[in-house]
Amino acid sequence: MLTRRQISEKIPDLKIYENEPMHAHTSFGTGGAARLFALPAGAEQIKELMDLCKSSEEKYALIGKGSNILVGDRGFDGVIICLGDEFAQVKIDGDSIFAQAGASLIGIAAAAKRAGLSGLEFACGIPGSLGGAVFMNAGAYGGEMKDIVKTVTVMKPDGKVMQLSGEEMHFGYRHSRAMEEEMIILDAKMQLAFGDEKEISAAMSELMKRRAEKQPIQYPSAGSTFKRPQGYFAGKLIEDAGLKGFSIGGAQVSEKHCGFVINKDHASSADILSLCEHIQKTVFEKTGVALEMEVRKLGDF
Ligand SMILES: Cc1cc2nc3c(=O)[nH]c(=O)nc-3n(C[C@H](O)[C@H](O)[C@H](O)COP(=O)(O)OP(=O)(O)OC[C@H]3O[C@@H](n4cnc5c(N)ncnc54)[C@H](O)[C@@H]3O)c2cc1C
Repeated sequence: MLTRRQISEKIPDLKIYENEPMHAHTSFGTGGAARLFALPAGAEQIKELMDLCKSSEEKYALIGKGSNILVGDRGFDGVIICLGDEFAQVKIDGDSIFAQAGASLIGIAAAAKRAGLSGLEFACGIPGSLGGAVFMNAGAYGGEMKDIVKTVTVMKPDGKVMQLSGEEMHFGYRHSRAMEEEMIILDAKMQLAFGDEKEISAAMSELMKRRAEKQPIQYPSAGSTFKRPQGYFAGKLIEDAGLKGFSIGGAQVSEKHCGFVINKDHASSADILSLCEHIQKTVFEKTGVALEMEVRKLGDF
């Protein structure tokens, strides 16, 4: 079992914490502690840390802003590698934007707007990191990362760093090659188009208005809990199954949008998971449709 001291001896400049509460790093606001929690500032530190974990048979997992994960109440008995502010450079070059994985997608969308670059309007309300957005092929209102990602720098599980084109990322609905091959997204270049700042700003305001009208953004959640099943809408299936407002512990099917499971009142991750399982079972019994979680589980429940 690796200790903080052992890691600090090998990688002296790495920010690393012990028993870090994961509720502070997830948009659900739930989850137990990570035994070790690291904030690498560059690809070398990620590789060194990964190598150290492997040689010590230590479990590790990667997160960005924690807006699409559910961490178990018993936490994570290993090293959480979080790509955040330490790894968040953003550079605009003509009509393209380069960003490191830890950069905020909302921040990148705002930078694009200020530079009069169009293409990231869809992302202005998606509260994750660039790395998480590429990994998930995040999307909204008809746009998705697939449309704008030109190249991605990834680290493979053997530590090799390579650059892939957008096509080589095998993007699909909430899917990317990084999931298939356990790649770490290090950075990406996005191809945008010159546009008019006022029009971009108006489009973003409109999308934010629609979000505020339709989604329970005043409660902690991870956005849409389930993937959209082909030919259906998860929220409608859940509402038709009579589950609007249904609660387990502090977790509730949002009354505003049934596609969202929210942390209504001091929910635990166990409450959220039990509610998700109940929804899946009920919807399957009533409609024969198997809902698949979009939110990814992490750690010990
Ligand atoms: C209020 C709200 C609204 C939302 N709306 C939308 C929406 O409209 N559309 C949408 O698609 N999503 C939406 N989401 C979900 C979420 O914001 C996205 O999935 C986001 O892209 C996740 O990024 P993250 O950095 O938070 O990833 P995390 O939650 O930290 O991680 C998600 C997954 O990505 C992996 N991962 C993260 N970073 C990397 C990396 N650098 N390399 C490899 N793997 C990585 C993690 O291992 C994990 O499996 C919403 C969430 C909330 C809370």
